[in-house]
Amino acid sequence: KKSKLQVFDQLESEVRTYCRSFKTVFAKGSNAKLVDRDNREYIDFFAGAGALNYGHNNKRIRSKLVEYLLQDGITHSLDMATEAKEKFLLTFQNTILEPRGMKYKVMFPGPTGTNSVESALKIARKVTGRTNVVCFTNAFHGMSLGSLAATGNAYKRGGSGVPLTGTTFMPYDGYLGPLVDTTSLLEKMILDSGSGLDLPAAVILETLQGEGGLNGASDKWLRNLERICREHGILLIVDDVQMGCGRTGTFFSFEKSGIRPDIVCLSKSIGGYGLPMAITLLRPEHDIWNPGEHNGTFRGNNLGFVAATEALHYWSNDELEKQIDAHAKTISAFLNRMASRYSGKISEIRGKGLIQGLVFKNPEEASKLCGVCFDKGLIMETSGPSDEVAKLMPPLTIEASVLKEGLNKLEAALQQLFAPAKP
Ligand code: PMP
Repeated sequence: KKSKLQVFDQLESEVRTYCRSFKTVFAKGSNAKLVDRDNREYIDFFAGAGALNYGHNNKRIRSKLVEYLLQDGITHSLDMATEAKEKFLLTFQNTILEPRGMKYKVMFPGPTGTNSVESALKIARKVTGRTNVVCFTNAFHGMSLGSLAATGNAYKRGGSGVPLTGTTFMPYDGYLGPLVDTTSLLEKMILDSGSGLDLPAAVILETLQGEGGLNGASDKWLRNLERICREHGILLIVDDVQMGCGRTGTFFSFEKSGIRPDIVCLSKSIGGYGLPMAITLLRPEHDIWNPGEHNGTFRGNNLGFVAATEALHYWSNDELEKQIDAHAKTISAFLNRMASRYSGKISEIRGKGLIQGLVFKNPEEASKLCGVCFDKGLIMETSGPSDEVAKLMPPLTIEASVLKEGLNKLEAALQQLFAPAKP
């Protein structure tokens, strides 16, 4: 039988060119649906790992992009001032920062999430004159040297070939069980001259660990961490690359927790249309770089600015937030039913908003489930240190009927694989 992948299969022996989990060639996408070149339809519960919060080919964003291109809008501008950049900055200021009472300067660190994290780490070191950065078990911050050094995944760290330096890992909230507040360990180690911990420049964290298995931090833990940072002049960096732009139900994942980070990293869905874009938000007093100290060719992606500006209009009222909330309730009710039906296989459900997942006692079964889902036309990925979590993260704009259709496919896949637990 001839493989559907054709040219990709031919190339496989020489170069690594495609994802092995989803063995087809995709051709088109519209909101939460993808179509492959054999016209098979898939529901997308992966959403570009959080880069497609507004769906594939979002019509209102697309029409702005087409209009901009037809008017000879500038596509690339390094760090020059352009109208598209100006509109984005004004919209971000008026729609996101001001209503939340936030005062940040917006910088463009480069095109991707890891660029934003690198810029945050550099700024923190320059501001404080310290090198060490505290990060957390199961964190994921990116693949370049600094962000990888802050990533708590041995397999991914192994990609660097030699040990990574400059970071100290501490247990994330819940790592030592539900009763231990791990911030007290950090505080003790900072205060204790015998701990061996170099006073850090920054603490970097995700409020919910997307790649690390959907572990979430409590508001109390976040507030304790913020207090410790303030007391010791440590910069608090929230990496909202995956959880930002509405994934957990609010634009910033931390906005209801009461903390106000010194630096916030955003990428993925800030580009609105799946276009590469990243921003780093800095407290104004930390804007200390001299011209040229942090540059990069693709910081002026104007198509990203145009798409991002239109996407921000979703946040000018609370309609999207309400929809996320309704969808999140549908998903958690469904997952709760599945977790009790298959309690022999599933240990818990994790996550919030439109990023939730089923934790499998045997990690292989999470991967198997995603494989069967794919055969049924549903795209899902695993996460966690052993890939034990089957993760659901549809576009925020998914239609209620398509969400139901996707959940039905997931239920059918579970049914095919596992016998229900005995009552
Ligand atoms: N931070 C977090 C929390 C992420 O989830 C990711 C990507 N999965 C990154 C940083 C890195 O982003 P990018 O792949 O765009 O470099």
